Amino acid sequence: MINFNIPPYTGNEEPYVIQAMRSPKISGDGSFGKQCQQWFETHLPCHKALLTPSCTAALEISAMLAGIAPGDEVIMPSYTFVSTANAFALRGANIVFVDVQQETMNIDAERVREAMTDKTKAIVVVHYAGVACDMDRIMAVAREQGVLVIEDAAQGMMGEYKGRALGTIGHLGTYSFHETKNYTSGGEGGLLIINDARFVEKAEVIREKGTNRSQFFRGQVDKYTWVDTGSSYLPGELQAAYLWGQLEKADEINQQRLGAWSCYWEKLQPLAEKHAFSLPMIPADCRHNGHMFYLKVANLEERQRLIGYLKDCGVMAVFHYVPLHSSPAGRKAGRFAGADRHTTRESERLLRLPLWYGIGEADIDVVAEAIERFFIAEA
Ligand SMILES: *Cc1c(COP(=O)(O)O)cnc(C)c1O
Repeated sequence: MINFNIPPYTGNEEPYVIQAMRSPKISGDGSFGKQCQQWFETHLPCHKALLTPSCTAALEISAMLAGIAPGDEVIMPSYTFVSTANAFALRGANIVFVDVQQETMNIDAERVREAMTDKTKAIVVVHYAGVACDMDRIMAVAREQGVLVIEDAAQGMMGEYKGRALGTIGHLGTYSFHETKNYTSGGEGGLLIINDARFVEKAEVIREKGTNRSQFFRGQVDKYTWVDTGSSYLPGELQAAYLWGQLEKADEINQQRLGAWSCYWEKLQPLAEKHAFSLPMIPADCRHNGHMFYLKVANLEERQRLIGYLKDCGVMAVFHYVPLHSSPAGRKAGRFAGADRHTTRESERLLRLPLWYGIGEADIDVVAEAIERFFIAEA
């Protein structure tokens, strides 16, 4: 059986987690937590990087920082994970879903422009598969009306747009360290990246239950107290220790995934032309991170048959994201602005192949050969 995903593991996580377990401080922002945050602040041109229990939590903090209130509109793609919308719906926003571009499954900047109203407070972009959205155009649209841009870069760590790290281009950015992402902090975890200095202090307060505890620890105030509303958004030390084992090998993990991605590309590219299915497109100004390799086949029916066929061959392939505007909660939370030219149709054609840190060419061969047999039988 070839799994769809195996959580990344380098070997150093174990000694670090044990070290964390034996330390007298195992709550948030301990020594591993600080080390991880420093790593991000060194590697990313941001004002602050804060570990969170999940990307969902980082998006929730973003919605609070953006000051989202009932009636505000937030524009985002319909083709995304529920948390992108949920974080803003929780604060009473009306979600305005817009169409994606067919080639990348990323939000279409032109559709964003058309969906802007005087109620628009923020634009949330999702860098699908670690491939950057058209950030120059998105930022230009946002600047025209002075709205915030939040990058859901859950899948985007190590990805780049014109040489800039994903998550560092908008006002705020978020990463996920869930076990299905390129780097994990032991199953669940996330990061909030603050690129606009105005938000640093408030983000620290929100994350520390509405207190100024972070300032207190830095000696900036002599007692800590409740200063605003907030919540508890710190992961524990064991999570941070696990993540540290991966940050140390961040490049190695990235290179290995990119190698596996290219291996898929070489084997499937000739078949794609012959059998009329399509492969992911990486725009010239983007550097992706090998997060995902997918195919797009003719339609929903063919996709379901291919998933079944691969399963019989011992290959776990999956689809995801039922477009949010057609989900029960999505229908309540907002509306789709403009025409759904690509979102539904492309989401139904898309099939994700096994890809994880450590997958080898032998496994990729098995997957590619099974796909070839399927299409030969179809012809
Ligand atoms: C995985 C994912 C999330 C959620 O991440 P968690 O860390 O599980 O909360 C949000 N948005 C996108 C686009 C994702 O892929």
